[in-house]
Amino acid sequence: MSAPIVEAKLEVKQASKEVKDSENVAEKYSVMTVSKNSEMNMGDLSPVVSAVPTHKPVKKQIQFVDDKQEFSRFPTKAGRRSLSRSISQSSTDSYSSDSSDDETSPRDKTQVNSKGSSDFCVKNIKQAEFGRREIEIAEQDMSALISLRKRAQSEKPLAGAKIVGCTHITAQTAVLIETLAALGAQCRWTACNIYSTQNEVAAALSETGVAVFAWKGESEDDFWWCIDRCVNTEGWQPNMILDDGGDLTHWMYKKYPNVFKKIRGIVEESVTGVHRLYQLSKAGKLCVPAMNVNDSVTKQKFDNLYCCRESILDGLKRTTDVMFGGKQVVVCGYGEVGKGCCAALKALGAIVYVTEIDPICALQACMDGFRVVKLNEVIRQVDVIITCTGNKNVVTRDQLDRMKNGSIVCNMGHSNTEIDVASLRTPELTWERVRSQVDHVIWPDGKRVILLAEGRLLNLSCSTVPTFVLSITATTQALALIELYNAPEGRYKQDVYLLPKKMDEYVASLHLATFDAHLTELTDEQAKYLGLNKNGPFKPNYYRY
Ligand code: NAD
Repeated sequence: MSAPIVEAKLEVKQASKEVKDSENVAEKYSVMTVSKNSEMNMGDLSPVVSAVPTHKPVKKQIQFVDDKQEFSRFPTKAGRRSLSRSISQSSTDSYSSDSSDDETSPRDKTQVNSKGSSDFCVKNIKQAEFGRREIEIAEQDMSALISLRKRAQSEKPLAGAKIVGCTHITAQTAVLIETLAALGAQCRWTACNIYSTQNEVAAALSETGVAVFAWKGESEDDFWWCIDRCVNTEGWQPNMILDDGGDLTHWMYKKYPNVFKKIRGIVEESVTGVHRLYQLSKAGKLCVPAMNVNDSVTKQKFDNLYCCRESILDGLKRTTDVMFGGKQVVVCGYGEVGKGCCAALKALGAIVYVTEIDPICALQACMDGFRVVKLNEVIRQVDVIITCTGNKNVVTRDQLDRMKNGSIVCNMGHSNTEIDVASLRTPELTWERVRSQVDHVIWPDGKRVILLAEGRLLNLSCSTVPTFVLSITATTQALALIELYNAPEGRYKQDVYLLPKKMDEYVASLHLATFDAHLTELTDEQAKYLGLNKNGPFKPNYYRY
């Protein structure tokens, strides 16, 4: 019985790496989180920004670490993608991205923007105007970030910041990059994924002076070349990193250790990148403060629960045109992603079964009205299987053999390991590509199973991620950068920090305005009764939302 106690202790230790809310920039945000009449005050950021310390942290003597041991696994830019920044294949299939017949590698072209700069490398700078329209469309659903931009741009809290970024380059990222620039930062950007760049957006950013090195369909060599061009440029030395997956961090750490150790802060948003940073930290090798925005509450809820609740249906409908009313669906895993998928399918009238290994999640599924079963109990009758476990081989070849003709199999969880797709690549089975991202796997007796996205994440491969979800992440990233860049000496050590609760609350509060939602303000008596500051944080760090 001692194991849970040990785990609980570890959890507390981990939580202690969060910065005390009263210490950080977010404390100042609380002034405008709730206005006096309990409505969101969206028009005034001045208290926040003026509260940002004007002095910059003194350069620290940071001990550089041994170069051999970290990032033990070489990053894979094509196989890994973070969730919030991801853009689906379909959404990047805009006409301008793909309509170019020019097969010349961007590396072999000389391009100049209208201001005469050639400090960028994109597919076609002439697509800039179309990219601008895409960015303007994204701005419409990113009003919280735009609001932050408008309020803070006169104060320039990122003045002097030289940010190198490695993220998906999409219209939504462009809104973030242009926000960082409006707040005073100089930005150079590259793509964290070789397929996801929206070429026209990369062109639009390059046209406005952001040095972008990215295009859709890069080779592996192009990928590292772009990162290098971003980091290694005459007369410009980055002092902040915004990374998605850890590849840029890895490159700088290995190739430019002297530049790396002068970085003031790293903001990392992916599970993989955060994992690597924690490994470094654990080994005592992290020489730069880092902010883990992946695990901020607001981002997690939106990425996992709400985003999947919306995009599961989008992905299924676009690929199969199937009607879900009355269909029997089994969802494997009733965590955040599973809960989102189940809720969406139930709302369409599907009969939903759940499989779980964890009795707490299983009981939650029961309370929510789902039958909890073992997969083998329903495998012959279900029309659809959706995996959401983060685990491997949750659906095996043996189970796929027993599924009925016409059933659909897809994954919303971890990469492409949840369904044993490799086991389907055997001589007796025929694969027929019937649509983009849709394969019919045909058994010798003629039975067909419809496999979506070859077992990779359905929503990221076959649908789009709502811009509003990306706005949450982008706002979180912008605030994390401001916080790390402006933090006084000593607030952040060479470690990985979670976003202070107060900032999480602030990100949420900025987005409430979209819905004209009016927060209730604690009375003095109530605040005292609950032992809370009237401006938050409103929950302890261990609170589960
Ligand atoms: P979670 O830990 O909250 O939920 C996973 C659940 O699966 C847990 O309750 C666990 O008990 C259960 N589980 C594990 N192995 C199982 C098995 N063999 N059979 C049945 N249940 C099993 O995690 P989450 O936040 O729901 O995320 C799940 C996965 O989805 C992760 O890999 C995550 O990276 C990924 N994810 C995908 C998206 C997306 O857009 N598709 C978004 C966020 C997260």
